[in-house]
Amino acid sequence: MSVSWTLDCVACGTSHDGLDPRMTCDCGGTLDVAHDLDALRGRVSRRVFDDRRGGRDRLDRSGVWRFRELILPDVDPDLVATKPEGNTNLYDVPSALADWAGLDALQLKHEGENPSGSFKDRGMTTGVTAARLHGATKVACASTGNTSASMAAYAALCGLEAYVFVPAGKIAYGKLSQALAFGAKTLQLDGDFDSALALVRAICRDHGVYLLNSVNPFRLEGQKAIGFEILSDLGWRVPDWIVLPGGNLGNSSALGKGLLELKALGLIDRLPRIAVIQAAGAAPLYRAWVDDAVPVPVQADTVATAIRIGDPVSWRKSLRAVRESRGLVESVTDAEILAAKARVDGAGIGAEPASCATVAGIKKLRAAGTIAQDAHVVGILTGHLLKDPDVVVAYHRSDAADANPPVQVEGTVPAVLEALGLR
Ligand SMILES: *Cc1c(COP(=O)(O)O)cnc(C)c1O
Ligand SMILES: [Zn+2]
Repeated sequence: MSVSWTLDCVACGTSHDGLDPRMTCDCGGTLDVAHDLDALRGRVSRRVFDDRRGGRDRLDRSGVWRFRELILPDVDPDLVATKPEGNTNLYDVPSALADWAGLDALQLKHEGENPSGSFKDRGMTTGVTAARLHGATKVACASTGNTSASMAAYAALCGLEAYVFVPAGKIAYGKLSQALAFGAKTLQLDGDFDSALALVRAICRDHGVYLLNSVNPFRLEGQKAIGFEILSDLGWRVPDWIVLPGGNLGNSSALGKGLLELKALGLIDRLPRIAVIQAAGAAPLYRAWVDDAVPVPVQADTVATAIRIGDPVSWRKSLRAVRESRGLVESVTDAEILAAKARVDGAGIGAEPASCATVAGIKKLRAAGTIAQDAHVVGILTGHLLKDPDVVVAYHRSDAADANPPVQVEGTVPAVLEALGLR
């Protein structure tokens, strides 16, 4: 079988065969799926993509595969592992939330509305499809939670054996329960995400297991579709900013790569500025951005477990996306994340902590004057509210000013009226 793409090293530029099973270049650099854009030019248009939406075809119904020419062109549809995913809501947020962030208006793309509750499904549909292209029967990942939940679901869908490596005690319950429920063999390991990733990479390299962390370049191809879908949702009107959280930095890398491809193909005429928001306790990219240096790994610590990553794999690709879009990197504290989360949740939208770094970052960049009050801003919410119920209940039982604790009340009409303030 031959394919139209190659795997190109982002560090040294060496081009490898598109189905080479390697995850990195000999030089250690990560790989990009490099498409033959000239060959694709005549096959893609805004119209082709928009018209598929609402179609009945199995691939058209996916918010990833309806952009298939720019994802993995000409893959055998029978090998495509799709739920389908994507087609998430782009919310015009209530004015109270936009006001709080300091903006005239704000739109939030809710990737927590994917089938397993996070954007990881967009990368996993392509990652598991790539596993099948490679003839793999076993797949594995290290995960702070959502990657494992998603991988376990797609593996189960296709009858692949799934191995999940999670840092013991540092994974939200919603996510751990998904991995278990979908039947993945789940190993809880001492240490953190970064050490679990090093371990799974070594096991996969030597034991015929297909690695599905975001170092896998096919994951990022699917995640590009978040940007494609935002543009399609907006009638291809380019927003001023797209803001998203950064952990291992696959998602910001993917967003930037996809938008650059759209521009190269003439589907958009400029890029939105990409702002990557890190948690202050897990902010190696932010430090590198401020210091204009290479990221230095840190011991990560933040309430936002999905971005609790100290040694991000895709930093080079992410910085490329930030630079080429004239974007930036910002960091926010856990207190800022939780305050933003209370607002996002309270607006009836709701998302897990890492997602709310997006809104905390928007508020901070607005307050600094970096984002204008009338700017067109799209924030990405990456995961569902129910992923991490412990954080929610702890917050609302705390002494936070906007806490909404459950009230213990005697089961009588007078006591209930009293508690509700109706008397
Ligand atoms: C994975 C994840 C992130 C971080 O994405 P990266 O690609 O690792 O930067 C953020 N939020 C949620 C909910 C996630 O699951
Ligand atoms: Zn290289």
